[in-house]
Amino acid sequence: MIVALDSPQAELVKIRRHFHEHPELSLVEHETASYIERELRALNLDDVRTGVGKTGTLGTLSGGKPGPATLLRADIDALPIQELNEVPYRSSRDGVMHACGHDGHIAILLSAARALAARRGEIAGTLVFCFQPGEEGHAGNRLMIEDGALENPHVDRTFALHLYSGLEVGKIGVRDHAFFSASDEFHLTIRGKGGHGAMPQLAADPIAAGCYFVTMIQTIVSREVAPKDPAVFTVGKFTSGSTFNVIPDEAEMEGTVRSFDPAVRKSMPERLERILKGLADAMRVEYDLKYRWGYPPTVNDVEVNNVVRTVGRQILGDENVIEHDIVMWAEDMSFMQNERPGAYFIVGSRGRDGTQFPHHNARFDIDERALEVGYTMMVGLGLSS
Ligand SMILES: [Zn+2]
Ligand SMILES: [Zn+2]
Repeated sequence: MIVALDSPQAELVKIRRHFHEHPELSLVEHETASYIERELRALNLDDVRTGVGKTGTLGTLSGGKPGPATLLRADIDALPIQELNEVPYRSSRDGVMHACGHDGHIAILLSAARALAARRGEIAGTLVFCFQPGEEGHAGNRLMIEDGALENPHVDRTFALHLYSGLEVGKIGVRDHAFFSASDEFHLTIRGKGGHGAMPQLAADPIAAGCYFVTMIQTIVSREVAPKDPAVFTVGKFTSGSTFNVIPDEAEMEGTVRSFDPAVRKSMPERLERILKGLADAMRVEYDLKYRWGYPPTVNDVEVNNVVRTVGRQILGDENVIEHDIVMWAEDMSFMQNERPGAYFIVGSRGRDGTQFPHHNARFDIDERALEVGYTMMVGLGLSS
């Protein structure tokens, strides 16, 4: 692994561990935001804006040469998870944990901002350091756009990274076009008619209908959507009934829908509705379906992505810039990347023992050498034009 000679590894680790120890949930990252603001103000930037999209922070740095306005983004929120790691920098807050690596993202971007501010004269164009709250399901990215994060200066392109335990430390993963899936959700109530478990003829069983629903929606993926278009339906919650010999009145379900193709994504609520109409007739039940649009797919611009490839190959070597497969998670950076050409890449964080756990796991941790990779990439991208 080749790293920059001036890489502040000790500082990266210190900042990352500070945030790991002091995690904050989505849109209430007040202490995190104050820390970020303090650090940015010490850099003599042109502008520091706070409270953008509730707890977001923006720092603007104009370079010594003309060029585009480039936004570099880090997400800052933690998750409602009780940490199970026994490490010195373990979360000090019960039930809150940086289990996605956003602590590392903050450390990377703060350190990169410091390095870039010191090299202002070499920068072509303007840099916007974007510390975004509420990535974990709260669309903080959209809130920042609504608060003007892409204007003053008018942002021309964006870069974002995510540490990733699915990839070995020292490598980055890139992909043109759609990289992460869209994530939408549905809430469903099936209303039948309760009755005695031994006299089903007098009842309409919402559990039996619900079970058909769970299996029928899988045929949307296997029989209706083209095999080249990945999609997932998962019913993550199915509750009904109170005891073994009673047919209940209702069943409740919640599920997630993942897809990549915009047309496929748009078609999903109608497909569910059609299946439910048939099921209602067939099973003598009624239903109430609520469909909530979540994050769109994260789509990378080829030209901006090529900047990541070039910088990555220079810093890490050709063999460490991996053309990566799609990833079925969702990212709210997709909102900014729908507005402006952007590139989102992943930074391998799996190395030492204990760093193999998936994201959002209570034992998630990173190999901290990944911070250096992320940092050198962000500095390299900040100096690219
Ligand atoms: Zn996450
Ligand atoms: Zn994340």
